[in-house]
Amino acid sequence: MPEKTYVILDLEWNGTYSRRIKGFINEIIEFGAVKVDESLNILDTYEALVRPQVGKKISGKIRTLTSITNEELEGGLQFMQVTSRFRKWMGGAILLTWGTSDILTLIENCRYFCGSQRIPFLETYIDLQAYCQQQLGAEPGKQMGLTTAAELLGISGDDFDHHRALGDSLLSLRCLQRVYNPERLAAMEQTADDEFYRRMTFKTMILCDLNSPLIRPGDMVFHCDGCGRPAQRVGDWQLKNKSYRAIFTCRSCHSSFYGRVQFKLKYEGLMVKKSVIPIRPESAAPPQEEKEEE
Ligand SMILES: [Zn+2]
Repeated sequence: MPEKTYVILDLEWNGTYSRRIKGFINEIIEFGAVKVDESLNILDTYEALVRPQVGKKISGKIRTLTSITNEELEGGLQFMQVTSRFRKWMGGAILLTWGTSDILTLIENCRYFCGSQRIPFLETYIDLQAYCQQQLGAEPGKQMGLTTAAELLGISGDDFDHHRALGDSLLSLRCLQRVYNPERLAAMEQTADDEFYRRMTFKTMILCDLNSPLIRPGDMVFHCDGCGRPAQRVGDWQLKNKSYRAIFTCRSCHSSFYGRVQFKLKYEGLMVKKSVIPIRPESAAPPQEEKEEE
């Protein structure tokens, strides 16, 4: 079997308004990447500035963050030229990015500038953030930033040109080197087929229709905290803070509580989150709003 090569890509972009689509677009202004072999030895690096075509001037925030100037960007190539050169440079390597936001931004830019629904240089993808998080035993729901991961792995960010594409891709590589396991990394390879793009671009929605056939009757049933018996709903369901709530009482214990249920429609299917908010008997005041968790 031929040796695998990996390319870790990082992008910088500038959020700008497009009159053509009458909306905001994250216009990519820099590519930075490092190519490594199966033992994670560096084979080559790639760096390119992209001349903006939508936002002629980059925002002060991005200028401060990246220290890229408008004059430097003037000397860059257009997005289509950079992607075509990058594709040649990549060869058939497996692409890695820190989290999927770089992929989403690439999809957005490829659509906008090339009229293409696909990223021309993407064949196989690995979400490096998801991999490192798994190796670190971190909670999968929360997305860990690159700086946080580097700190946890005892890597000093000072040696890297932070918030520049190449610097961040090299820092990502250093993180990968600390937690590298070839089999486990290979298990996270995703083929960039139609299903991949559907999954990537799927927008999670809050379901706000109690008549939806996706909701099972059991989702709306609550049990008493005290005795475990099914509680009786004594009021209508009310939509509040993107979740439904209703007052329930237990006939045996004569206690009341709010039953709260939230329906999130994700690519994988309907996620149901239920919680119980006690109502203290001495006060009829409504319960405190809880902080929304993601
Ligand atoms: Zn009870």
